[in-house]
Amino acid sequence: MAIYLDHAATSPLRPAVLEAMQPYLTTHTGNPSSLHASGRRARQGIDEARETIAASIGAQPREIVFTGGGTEADNLAVKGVAWAATSRGRHVITTAVEHKAVLNAVAVLERSTFEITVLPVDGHGRVDPLDVAAALTDRTTLVSVMAANNEVGTTQPIEAIGEIVRGHGARLHVDAVQWAAHEPIDVDSWQADLVSLSAHKLGGPQGVGALYVRRGTQLLPQLQGGSQERQRRAGTENVAGIVGFGAAFSLVHGDPEARRAESQRLIELGRALTTGLLAHDGVSVTGHPDERLPNNVSVVIDGVEGGDLVAALDLEGVEVSTGSACTSGSTEPSHVLLAMGIDPHLAHGSLRLTLGPETSREDVDATLAAFERVLPRLRTTQGAQPKATVPA
Ligand code: PMP
Repeated sequence: MAIYLDHAATSPLRPAVLEAMQPYLTTHTGNPSSLHASGRRARQGIDEARETIAASIGAQPREIVFTGGGTEADNLAVKGVAWAATSRGRHVITTAVEHKAVLNAVAVLERSTFEITVLPVDGHGRVDPLDVAAALTDRTTLVSVMAANNEVGTTQPIEAIGEIVRGHGARLHVDAVQWAAHEPIDVDSWQADLVSLSAHKLGGPQGVGALYVRRGTQLLPQLQGGSQERQRRAGTENVAGIVGFGAAFSLVHGDPEARRAESQRLIELGRALTTGLLAHDGVSVTGHPDERLPNNVSVVIDGVEGGDLVAALDLEGVEVSTGSACTSGSTEPSHVLLAMGIDPHLAHGSLRLTLGPETSREDVDATLAAFERVLPRLRTTQGAQPKATVPA
C-alpha cells in the first residue's frame, strides 16, 4: 500500500461513509421527486443529510443547496449572485489565491462587462482585510474569499472580512472546501452569505458538494431544468452521494473534542515532516507559519522540478502533489505561489504533502527516508544545486 499524503486533492472514502451510502445504491433507489414510497425514502435520506450539514455550520436546512461538487458550488455562488444583483452594480472582488473554480468564474463575468478586482496577498498568502475595505465601491455586489488555500494551507481572516463586507452591504462568499475538512464553520460569526463545501475533501464521495445560501440572498440558478433544491439547482439529486456527504460531515464535525484532538495529532506529524524536509539544503516552507490548515505541509525545493519529485516519490510508494492537483500537468508555476511573491524558478519546485486520518508517524518517517533517497539523485540528473530560498 502506498503512503497517501494527498488529502487536499481527495481524502479516501471513509468506511462508515460507504456503509451509510450502500442502502441508497441498492435498496432506496427511488427518485426523490417521486411521490411514492420509494421516492419518499430517497427524499428522507437527502433531508437528513441536509439537516446534519446545516446544523454543523449554524444554518437552516433550507439554506443548503446540494451541488455536483465544490466547483459547481463556487460557480453558482459567484455567477449566481453577480447576475442576480446587476441592478445594484457589476463589481466583484476576489483574491489572487482563489481556486480556479472562482478565478475562472470571475473571468467569465469579466467578459460580460463585470468589473473584477483581484486582491493581492502577502508573502504568506494572506489577504489584508483593509485591502477588501479599500476595494469596495457602491457598485460592488459580491466579495469572494476562500477560508483556506488548497495549495499552501494558509487560512484567511474571514471574520474581519465579513465585518467589513456586511457593513458595506455586498454579499460575502467563502470557499470553505478545504477548511471544512479540519475546522468548524459558523456562518454567522463569519457573516458569510454563501459558503462552498465539497464532500470528497472530508472522506465523502467525489462529485457532491453544497452551497450555503443565506436566506434572502438573490441567486440566479446556473442550470435550467426541474425545480429541485428549491429551484436553485435543477437536476435529479445524487442521493447516495448526498447521504455520504452528510455521514462524512458528521464524522468530522459531530464530536468537536475528537476533531480538535485529530487536528493536534496532524499538527504534530506535520511538524515532524516539515523539520525533516527543512534539514535538506534549498528547502523552504511556503504559506503561513501558524495560520494554516493542520494537515498541510508545503515547501519549495530549489534545483528540482516538483513534477519530477512527485514521480520519483511515487516510485518509492509515496503519493504527494506539486501544488494543486487540479493544475498539475500544466508546466506553469502555481498562481498561488507567484501571488505570494515566490520566484518563478523556485515555484517550479513546489511540493504539497497533506496528511489525513490514517497517516501515522511511521508514514512520516518513511516519507522522509524516501525524500532523502530521491532528492540527491534528482539534483544530480538535473545538474542543479540549491541556490535560493524563499524570502521569510
Ligand atoms: N475550492 C477549493 C479550495 C478546492 O480545494 C477545490 C478542490 N480542489 C475546489 C474548490 C473544487 O472542489 P471539487 O473538486 O469538489 O469540484
